[in-house]
Amino acid sequence: RAKQEGRNGYRFFTSEMQRQSARILQLESALRQAQANRELHLCFQPQVSIDGQRLVGAEALLRWTHPQLGVISPAEFIPIAEGSGLILPIGEWVLRSAVRQMKAWLDQDYPSEMTIAVNLSLVQFRHPGLVELVVDVLQESGLPAHCLELELTESVAMHDPAAAIAVVRRLHALGVRLSVDDFGTGYSSLSYLKQFQVHKLKIDQSFIRQISEDGHDQSIVRAILGMACSLGMLTIAEGVETSAQLAELERLGCAEVQGYLFGKPMAAAEFDARVRQQQLVTGRHAQRAATTC
Ligand code: C2E
Ligand code: MG
Ligand code: MG
Ligand code: MG
Repeated sequence: RAKQEGRNGYRFFTSEMQRQSARILQLESALRQAQANRELHLCFQPQVSIDGQRLVGAEALLRWTHPQLGVISPAEFIPIAEGSGLILPIGEWVLRSAVRQMKAWLDQDYPSEMTIAVNLSLVQFRHPGLVELVVDVLQESGLPAHCLELELTESVAMHDPAAAIAVVRRLHALGVRLSVDDFGTGYSSLSYLKQFQVHKLKIDQSFIRQISEDGHDQSIVRAILGMACSLGMLTIAEGVETSAQLAELERLGCAEVQGYLFGKPMAAAEFDARVRQQQLVTGRHAQRAATTC
């Protein structure tokens, strides 16, 4: 009987795998057309000071709506874009579009210290043309380098750390900001953190979800905040959905937050309407909070 179940299990497993690989192939070929067919667009999610009074940044997040397949999540299509190399042209489009939007906002009355955060995949980070691309995008747009924040993941530190540190130094020299996304979920060693000279750690939302009731999450976040502060890095908590989470983060001394509580990722026009309605655009003189430690 066990044998029979095993066989059924095996049969189920292979057909499930076939279904999955067919889906991947279908999405990969659809993704090849997506850029030309204008199926991609960017959403922007506000990043605010812990008191909710100031807009400190926006994260650009890619969206794909296929005419037949509908909305496809980045969690599904980004890995496919990475595996096929399509992430290079798509990522370049994301960077140019996000930077252009940020420049347009700065030319209005958005705070001059505000940053636009763009996610970089490991494939983009390891591509030899990355630094030249960033230089070109900044020149083309006229956006000050310090207004661009590139989000890396801890995986960047794992693969060929020496080469990665060299790229980070070159980006650093341009004046762009660097942050580590999903911090605490990867495998980066703390000694790399020192050499990487990133400006900011983005505390992963898995530590925030239960932070108002889970003492372990509180301890982890407190440790990250303390370490970041003594290394001179900023921090932002991701995935803040409730005022109880916000209150706990404030108690722990976190300076900046991002999450549904302050706004979901939105199209540019909606983002603008929303932050004006919340009076988050308060003029050029809004200063970034000093770190609290
Ligand atoms: P991420 O960079 O960590 O982005 C944060 C994700 O959390 C986003 O999911 C965002 O919509 C979601 N989020 C924000 N606030 C909340 C909240 O309060 N609660 C919950 N439950 N979720 C929240 P999204 O947009 O689906 O993106 C998923 C991932 O896909 C991103 O994670 C990022 O790794 C990747 N991604 C998205 N756009 C790009 C891109 O342009 N380039 C690259 N390389 N990766 C991208
Ligand atoms: Mg991100
Ligand atoms: Mg994240
Ligand atoms: Mg991520």
